Amino acid sequence: MQAAVLRAIATPLVIETLPVPQPRRGEVLIKVAACGVCHSDLHAVDGDWTPLPTLPLVPGHEVVGHVAGLGEGVEHFRLGEPIGVPWMYSACGTCEFCLSGMETICLKAEATGYTKPGGYAEYMIADAAFCGRIPEAADLYEIAPILCAGVTTYRGIKRTGARPGQWLTVIGIGGLGHIAVQYAKAMGLRVAAVDVSEEKLELARQFGAEMAFNAATTDPVRAIRESIGGSHGAVVTAVSPRAFEQSVGIVRNGGTVAWIGLPGGKQDEIRLSIAAVVNGEVSIRGSSVGTRQDLQEAIDFAANGLVRARIEKAPLADINGIFARMKKAEINGRVVLAIA
Ligand SMILES: [Zn+2]
Ligand SMILES: [Zn+2]
Repeated sequence: MQAAVLRAIATPLVIETLPVPQPRRGEVLIKVAACGVCHSDLHAVDGDWTPLPTLPLVPGHEVVGHVAGLGEGVEHFRLGEPIGVPWMYSACGTCEFCLSGMETICLKAEATGYTKPGGYAEYMIADAAFCGRIPEAADLYEIAPILCAGVTTYRGIKRTGARPGQWLTVIGIGGLGHIAVQYAKAMGLRVAAVDVSEEKLELARQFGAEMAFNAATTDPVRAIRESIGGSHGAVVTAVSPRAFEQSVGIVRNGGTVAWIGLPGGKQDEIRLSIAAVVNGEVSIRGSSVGTRQDLQEAIDFAANGLVRARIEKAPLADINGIFARMKKAEINGRVVLAIA
């Protein structure tokens, strides 16, 4: 099978021919149809995070395909059925976090396309217990970004606690943000959008954002406070540390900020006003991908047409060029590798 492989950190991926893997107990073999290109894949390739990914690495964690082989004991999927693989390859299932519905923070979790081979390949192995069920009628290319961008933004919005009718600010309208706007609308929230690109703000308006502010030319904190007194919640999908700093001022008193984006590398620290957090009783919550239940809910929104990723299809061989465009923030929406 063909796969895009990383042999050394911060080097281009190379298309190689690898043997098709065999599923063991509890695993499925998947014939990959589509795999979205997430910014985290670029972080993995560039070695921005500690610990580093397991090499050689096949990246890719927005995987959709069909079941091509069943390991022993797998009974809830059948051959040929559509299936999705998210970032969370597996979690231990027995720790205090797994037992309390917080498997996203399990210390023994494995990550697809990071500690385990991912979907930049014609076939991959996944843990059957952590795969998503994809409706037969779904467009596999459009649904692929839901496996990370979708579930991640959906959980982030849930973690702000914002209720229908309340305001949510989406900061960063890229691969995650343009999907976050749609989830927020589908969940009955009113949306303000912040980005530094007019094109991306226009996309946010098209998806139903009632207000959109360009942080390159306007102070979004002041603009949102002056127009609505601050939003009830905010999700940060941007990768600029300044966006994280601003998020705390963008919410009104008692508001909750969910941080989703990961700037990585040397940009991992910010400066915040302690008084703003204390006096405004602002909550700051991290939100990392989603649980299996979040994933299934996120897929349902998309399968019912309420959320639609804006995608651009590309062949696997284009991956290094796609990463170059991603570094320059030149991608509007999501690039999806059309593998089958
Ligand atoms: Zn991702
Ligand atoms: Zn666990």
